[in-house]
Amino acid sequence: MIIDGRKIAREINAKSKQRVATLKARQVTPGIAVILVGNDPASRIYTRTKHRLAQKLGIASTLYHFPADVDQATVLRQVRRLNQDDQVDAILVQEPLPGQLNNEEIVNAIDPAKDVDGLHPLNLGRLFAKQGGHYPVACTPRGIMDLLDRYQVPLEGANVVIVGRSLLVGKPMLALLNNRNATVTFVGRHTKNRSELTRQADILIVAAGVPSLIKASDIKVGSTVIDVGINRLSSGKLVGDVDYISVLPKARLITPVPGGVGPMTVAALMSQAIDLAEWRRAAGQYLVG
Ligand code: NAD
Repeated sequence: MIIDGRKIAREINAKSKQRVATLKARQVTPGIAVILVGNDPASRIYTRTKHRLAQKLGIASTLYHFPADVDQATVLRQVRRLNQDDQVDAILVQEPLPGQLNNEEIVNAIDPAKDVDGLHPLNLGRLFAKQGGHYPVACTPRGIMDLLDRYQVPLEGANVVIVGRSLLVGKPMLALLNNRNATVTFVGRHTKNRSELTRQADILIVAAGVPSLIKASDIKVGSTVIDVGINRLSSGKLVGDVDYISVLPKARLITPVPGGVGPMTVAALMSQAIDLAEWRRAAGQYLVG
């Protein structure tokens, strides 16, 4: 069966729209601020997609677009201003940033209560410590968890293999699955027996950014395959990290590219921005009505 990420994302977005309407009835409009640096074409497309969806859902979205040669102090000043701005619930810094900027320092400057990407070390730490309470988690892993739950994929005791261990996808994915009692193995560039490990996976999650990295011979019959990769071939075609055509007949469930994880990431981002708006106001008790 093919996992329909677009359909599940539409359902989540419909719910988000209702949640925004409820907040608006209480005089609260959730606000998201996006910082974009330079003119990377993919980043511009991503930020435009996010901006349009936010508008559609009734979230106030503002884009702060800086030239590619902007200095660190200017970006940090903007982040701090947004931290203080009561209209802003969610701050997102679109990566990658140009080389002269210190990514770590910028992410660390974001108020953890407004860290909609869930990449602030405090929020990552809370996730790994499996702390109770409210905190944001990285949007792609959050979207993948939603997909797995919607398709009722059992997690407890499942053997999960994650290919790629970035802070954006692999690492938070590991923590989320581990917190649900899955047995998780990381496969990286230096892993020796990669195929042997992936063939044992009940759930295989691939986020390496390498087209056709995973072939039919790398997967177990009847497994769930989640393809996070987004690669544009020289022909202009968009493909994932999994050789979809050959893997499809062997998998029980598989995400297509496009139309799988991608729409879920943006839906998770919006719903997390609304979470942040609700949590911040609940904590400060300044919800009206
Ligand atoms: P990244 O480059 O930060 O990390 C890639 C990881 O894969 C690294 O840990 C690297 O060591 C590992 N890796 C690379 N080649 C490998 C190989 N041959 N074997 C095993 N591991 C290997 O990338 P990222 O930000 O995690 O993104 C990964 C992919 O997912 C990219 O294609 C990106 O465009 C895509 N992505 C998609 C979404 C979405 O919403 N669908 C969101 C984020 C990223």
